[in-house]
Amino acid sequence: MREDLLFLYQNLIKEEYEKLECSNFDFKDSSSFLRKEDILRICGDRKDVMEELQKRGLLVPFQEDRFRTTHFDLMFRLVYIRNLEHQRPIPLEHRIVMREELVPDFGTYKFTTILPEILPEDSEKEITIEAVSQSLSKRYTGLSSYQYPIIKELLLGEAENLAIVAPTASGKTITFFLPVLIQAISRKLKAVPGTSSILVYPRKALERDQLQNFLRFVDAANAVLQRNGIEAITIAIDDGDTPEAEIQNGDTFRKLKCVECEDELVVSFKDGTPLVSCITCQKEYPYLLPTKKEIRQNNPSILITNIHTIYRRLIAPDTVGIFEGLDYVIFDEAHVYTNYFGGHVSYITKLLRYVANQNKRYFLLPHSQTRGSLSVPLLELILRIYSILTIKGR
Ligand SMILES: [Zn+2]
Repeated sequence: MREDLLFLYQNLIKEEYEKLECSNFDFKDSSSFLRKEDILRICGDRKDVMEELQKRGLLVPFQEDRFRTTHFDLMFRLVYIRNLEHQRPIPLEHRIVMREELVPDFGTYKFTTILPEILPEDSEKEITIEAVSQSLSKRYTGLSSYQYPIIKELLLGEAENLAIVAPTASGKTITFFLPVLIQAISRKLKAVPGTSSILVYPRKALERDQLQNFLRFVDAANAVLQRNGIEAITIAIDDGDTPEAEIQNGDTFRKLKCVECEDELVVSFKDGTPLVSCITCQKEYPYLLPTKKEIRQNNPSILITNIHTIYRRLIAPDTVGIFEGLDYVIFDEAHVYTNYFGGHVSYITKLLRYVANQNKRYFLLPHSQTRGSLSVPLLELILRIYSILTIKGR
């Protein structure tokens, strides 16, 4: 939405809130509505702006030149209900609180400016910058002022454990995925074998969704690596649905969609090795490892999995090796690991710590929509948790 309209709309909400507050949040009280003159005053007497707000459905007209903002109109509909068809609507018990929160300033730190600063000085730096920029520019223009310091800290290896609590759509994913991607690229440039990062999800559906999400970034980064004659970074999902090796020619692959044409991905065999490709445009995804056998043999750069699978791999001699030399272990949606399950996760992370070498860094990422996280402004919360958990040895 246009910035000026957004600003005016926020002011209209504030005005309407004050009016509702004066009438004890009685939506039926006619003095709780916005009047045409209130709106024009806030819009600087611009009738065209008022019409624009109405056209966009942000102002809902009522009789006698009264209006509601769409936010309060929605609240009215939520709290006034009928339990019989012809009944007059009756209000449910309700309390309305208005709170201002800061919106992340996405794109403030452009990748082209910050990447040279946060990447270690080495001969391959230019390739990393190109691969990361090409990859992330598919979706992002840069970082916000809360993402940047966290990413910097993670890349410099100063944060041993880190937790992020942030609302939905505040950019948590890129905050952990950027360091994961950079580290995976860095390993390929230095020809360091093994798995670089493990991303742990509480549900299989989430694992799949995130793989779909990361696929375009990995694909774009790999295109740059390939152009420079460097091996591609690999990615895989390991869980109860991953076949051992007995995949059939033409099997669909996790219902994933092609990054080019969005059609289905299927598995075929090329020289006895399973290869994921698009059913329509034939684009090949040799960096996607579809079976457990492939995962064991090639140790993907980025492995998406869950805590139960990690435990099984930790206690089996032929699979425990995948955890050696990890750079990052990320628990997305970590708020679900509570009570007995939380204890189980804690025990497994101890085992994981034991197996991984000194290079390990954990990065806990609880999900957002807990009441606690919404009760303080986003930036303040991020900075608070960020500073507490980066104190070494705590
Ligand atoms: Zn395709």
